[in-house]
Order: sequence, then C-alpha cells, then structure tokens
Amino acid sequence: MTEHLQLADALDALPWLSLREQKALQSAGLATVGDVLLRMPRRYEDRSRSGNLATVLPGQTACLQVHVYSAGWRFSYKQYYELSVGPAAEPNGPRLLLRWFNMPYVAKLLAVGMDLFVYGKVRESGGRLMMVNPDFEQVEEEDAGRRLVQAAMGGIPLPVPEPAAPATPVHTGRIVPIYRGLSGMPPRTYRGLVWRLLGELDPQLPARGYDIAPRYPFRQALQDIHFPAADEDQRKARMRFALEECFAQQFRVAWRRRRSQRQDGMVTATDGAYVQELLAALPFRLTGAQARCVEEIRADMASPRRMNRLVQGDVGSGKTLVALCAMLYCLGSGYTAALIAPTQILAEQHYKNFCRLLAHTDIRVSLRTSDRADDTGALQLDDPAEADRTPRLLVGTHALLYKKNRPANLGLAVVDEQHKFGVEQRERFINSAGTAADVLVMTATPIPRTLTLTLYGDLDVSVIDELPAGRGEIVTALRNPDHMKRIISFMHSELAAGRQIYIVSPLVEESEKRAQASAIAELARWKEIFPEVPIGLLHGRIQPEEKERVMADFRANTTRILVATTVVEVGVDVPNATIMLINDADSFGLSQLHQLRGRIGRGQHKSYCILLSRLKKDDERLEKLQVLCRTTNGFEIAEEDFRLRGPGDVLGTAQSGLGAVQFPEWLADMRLIHRANRDAEAILDADPDLTDPAHAPLRQLVEGEEETAVTG
Ligand code: ADP
Ligand code: MG
Repeated sequence: MTEHLQLADALDALPWLSLREQKALQSAGLATVGDVLLRMPRRYEDRSRSGNLATVLPGQTACLQVHVYSAGWRFSYKQYYELSVGPAAEPNGPRLLLRWFNMPYVAKLLAVGMDLFVYGKVRESGGRLMMVNPDFEQVEEEDAGRRLVQAAMGGIPLPVPEPAAPATPVHTGRIVPIYRGLSGMPPRTYRGLVWRLLGELDPQLPARGYDIAPRYPFRQALQDIHFPAADEDQRKARMRFALEECFAQQFRVAWRRRRSQRQDGMVTATDGAYVQELLAALPFRLTGAQARCVEEIRADMASPRRMNRLVQGDVGSGKTLVALCAMLYCLGSGYTAALIAPTQILAEQHYKNFCRLLAHTDIRVSLRTSDRADDTGALQLDDPAEADRTPRLLVGTHALLYKKNRPANLGLAVVDEQHKFGVEQRERFINSAGTAADVLVMTATPIPRTLTLTLYGDLDVSVIDELPAGRGEIVTALRNPDHMKRIISFMHSELAAGRQIYIVSPLVEESEKRAQASAIAELARWKEIFPEVPIGLLHGRIQPEEKERVMADFRANTTRILVATTVVEVGVDVPNATIMLINDADSFGLSQLHQLRGRIGRGQHKSYCILLSRLKKDDERLEKLQVLCRTTNGFEIAEEDFRLRGPGDVLGTAQSGLGAVQFPEWLADMRLIHRANRDAEAILDADPDLTDPAHAPLRQLVEGEEETAVTG
C-alpha cells in the first residue's frame, strides 16, 4: 500500500473490493471512503472480555477463545455447517457446538485446527452447549490463517473472500461496532471493510471542513468512533462529531440571520385603520400577549428591514387574530397579504372566518387550494389593474405555491402551523412570495428552548404566553375501554346540554383504503350507540367538497358528533365542542395528543379530553398520557416529550427541515449550542463575508444557503 486513502476517494477504485461488494455499497448509496467512514455505528458490543467455556451458562452472551476440533456439514431439517470447538490443548476438555445456517461462506473460512474468537449467545440443546450463527474471527495473524484455509480447500488459492484476518481482532475480543444492516453484505464483511479503510486512511488526514477541535484530530476521532479501545474513546469521539454538527448548524443559522438583517424590505404597516375597525367590531379584547405580538409585528413591518418573525403560541392562544391584524396592516398599505395553511380544512376555516370578519370592508378574500378557487368577488387574479385597486387577502394551502396562483404585489406572507410544513416547503413558499415580502410564521407546537434556538435561530420570536380569559377548564382523563358504559352516558348528558363531540382514532391500517374501512366501521359503531344523533365522518380519503360539507355541518351543530382521523389535528376551531374522545391514545405522540386536545376548551364551557387505552395500568407507555392528565401547558408538555423520546425523535416528527441529524445529543445540550453559537458569531464578526482563505471551509458550509438566505 503506497497511497493513502482520502475521504473523497471512490470505493469502486479499490482493487480489493469484489464486484458484489461494490454493488451492495453502491445500492446503499455509499460511493466514497468518506461515505462509509462517516456512517457511524448504531451501537457497540463489548466483546473484549474473553469468557471461559468451563463456566459459561446457557442464556449468556459470551466471547470465547477456542480451538476447532472437528468440522463438517450436517443436516437435520435444514443443512448447516457445524464445528465442535473447545479450549486449545484440551482434547478432552469441554466442548461447544457452533452452527451456521444459510452461510455457506463460513465453511470456506473455517477448518479443523484453527484457533478462533467466537461471539454469540450460548444455548443448550440435548445437554450440549452451542451457539447459532456466532460471529467469529481467527486468532492467528494473517498468513497462518490463510495457509490453513488454503489447506482446507485442497491448496487452491482463494479469491480473497473478505479482508484477510488482521493481526488485531476486529469482530471479537474488543469493543465491536454494530452498523445498520446493508442488504447484500454480511455485517462482518462491512465491519471488515470499515477496518481496512481506516487502516489505509491517510494518517495526516485533515479535518473535514472547518476544524472545530484541532487538539483532537479528526482522523483519531474516526478511529475512536468505529473501533474504540475503550468506551470512553467512543464517547469522546461522538462529542467531537456532535460539536461539529452543532457548529455547522449554528453557523448556517448565524449566517442566515445576518443576511436577513441586511435585507431590504418593504414598509408595509403605514395604515392601521383596518385593524382599528376589526378590533372595535370584535366581541372581545385582545389578550395582553396578543396585543404585544401585534405591536412587535407592526414595528417590524413598519421598518424598512424585512420581517422574519415566528409567533409561538399554544393551541387556542388566538394566533389567527394576530395574523389577521398583521395582514390588515399590510392591506392598509396597499399590498396583498397571503396566509398558507397545511390542510384544506384549515384553509377553508380561515377563509370563512376572514370573510365573516371582513364582510363590512372593501377587502376581497380569496381561497386557493388545489381543489378549489373561490373569490368573494369575481376578481381576476392576473388583472394587475384590478389587483392594484382592491385590497386582497389570499388564503390557501400549498397550492398557493403553484405558479399560476402566485400573488402579485405581495407584502406579507403568513405560514400557519409552520411545523406541519418542512422548512424547505416554507422557504419555497416564501421564495415564490417574492424576495422583499415580510414573513410571519406561526407554530402551535411549543418546543424546548434549545430547539427553538436551533430551528428558528434566524427568526425573531414572539410568544403568546396567555390564553384568552373566560375559557372553560379542560379535564383530561385516562380510561380503559372497559369503562365505556359510563363514558357513553356522560357523552349523552353533554349532547343533551347542546354540546358536541370529537371521536378520533389513530390510523392503524397501513393502506389508506383499509384506514377508510376502519373509519367507516367506527362510524357504524357510534351510530349504533347513538341512533338518534347525527354523526359526521371525516378522514383523508373523503373528497374535498364532501370534507367541506362535513365540517360545515359540524360547525353549524347540525351534526353533533364528528368521527375523524387526525385530519382534525391542526387548527380546527369549533368552540361548542366539549368532548374529545381519543381511541388507543397511547399510539399517538405526546404533542399530537396535545394538538388534538386543543380542539376542545375553545369556548366558555368546561371540556373533557378522554384518553382511551387498552394498556395495563403499569405499562410505561402510559407515562406520556399521564403527562397530559397533569398539565395543559404546551411548553411543559414539549419538555416532557423531549425527555421521554429524546431530541432526535421529537425533531424527526414534530419539526422537519433541519436536515439529517446524526448526533442528536447536541440538540438537548444548551452549553454546546451556546458555545457553537458564540464561535460562529465571533467568526462572522471578524470576517462577515468569509473572505479570509482560512475560512474557505466555512464558505462551503453556507454555499447553497445563499439562495435561501435571501428569504430567511
Ligand atoms: P390558535 O392559536 O390555536 O390558532 P385560534 O386563533 O384558532 O387559536 O383561536 C381560538 C379561539 O379563540 C377562536 O375561536 C378565537 O375566535 C378565540 N379568540 C382569539 N382571541 C381571543 C380573545 N382575545 N378573547 C377571546 N377569544 C379569543
Ligand atoms: Mg390556529
């Protein structure tokens, strides 16, 4: 080996990789040395302590050093390769049987007389100890091993079946990395490949990109994370990679924030007449928190700088009204305003709501979803003369992204329930909105502070931390379906009092068609229980017009019960509904349950969230449901969710768009985030345009960011 490998080197240029192996790597998307070496172990197994065959017990997982006494193919109901092994130099010592099923290549590697490390779970069968499909490794060094193998094959030189056995053990007798499986390549072959790549890697390998921890070389960290000599090494290496990932992310955020701060915007809050008019007509006053948010937004819009603001407010805190005020400021200044919602149901709701609230004004409200295009007036979208004269408020789903729907003269874009969109989608929308339009994103999913900084560090944040007064209390209870009788009689009494009910079931079926079938079955079940009561059904497969009708009926209290899937999760606002019954509540995520519960308690009536679960009382999966019974505070629930599921999962489901996070541990680490943030800011203070050649890797980090940076 004369030339050292670099991370960018192509795997298919390696002469010692078989065609099949190359294929397997390729189909897993691994093309370069770096692709493999930056694919981190999923976990480790400590196989470093060598056990003793004389004392090992069935059921234990053990790593043993043994000698092969006999070998051969056997057949019972299936063919398998079997070795009888025992301590070396003890021909009459204890014996262990090793059996390999469906692994013919093993027979080519192992033969009588070899010394091996074997690792696996010890079982007992017919009074004999055995391991099935154990991991193994020759104890001897390379040459001796290959000679033995060749002898076993009758002296025919072998096509190298896998990287030859190295002098130090790779698969046994040490802390061994376990990777996610690769189809077409056995785990040990993959592990052997990683080992060999590391062995041939440039010892002077420079850090990848910007070196955040020069005192702990990147090259060493790679070695430590794949083949740690001690557990400590592996943790230290992870820490380095986590910091690197965190820094890269914080650097991008800092870069974006600076870009957007330098951006010219439009002055879009010159006239507050519409807002005054609206507020005067409302039957209630804005809460203190709403008023503060509106003022923060107004100030942003009135400044020539472009607004990039996040409104974070718990379910039911009244974000819609805040958004409407912002849009009215924008309309008052002669620009168009648009609001985009994640579902058609929600877009329709906003549309109807705005039409009602603005009926007495000259504002035209239009709806744009993929299924419908409604206007309060017969306004041609692409008639610029008309558009200039009439204040226009657009409501839509992502259909607003389509070219033909793109609003002209846009001054403000509001993204509702932003966590339901990926960051990417949000940015596409904003891009299509034009580069100077103010941007307001709203989210009801409160997230832990560390995540706010990470996900929204480039945005200014307003928090609505107060619910409107006069809201009925919400009682949350965890019940077993055995209590159904009492629950039903309670539902009867609420219906008799004029209230309404949601019944939500998880989508347990894989296919939408089966999900539909189960939703229909659920409807039939409730129709039997409440034969007198009109019941509506809502799920993803229902046609758009039908959906609209179902929601309209429920809103009008014509249907009293709504049987639904999670399509009602976001935004739906029917203040007269007071019961939310959730089937198999344990199969939902915590924040999703919180959102569902947010559908009730929107009026002055006392409301009830009933979480049904078949799980036994002491099942730990009930813990999250107990959190809900304890608190209705979204921020508290978010922290609990974070604690129960870990940051990676929370991020994966609740918030998309951060890109792949390989080391989620930093997401919860405020100190690490602050440190990365400080480092990033310091660099940008000293070199705002990254012209210093030493900062070339950082430039690379924000490249491609350039475009989105303009849009925040
Ligand atoms: P969310 O923040 O979940 O989007 P909404 O904007 O849908 O909440 O508001 C929930 C309900 O509260 C709506 O029926 C709305 O009319 C009502 N609401 C909003 N602001 C106030 C207020 N200041 N006082 C009383 N009710 C309010
Ligand atoms: Mg809302």
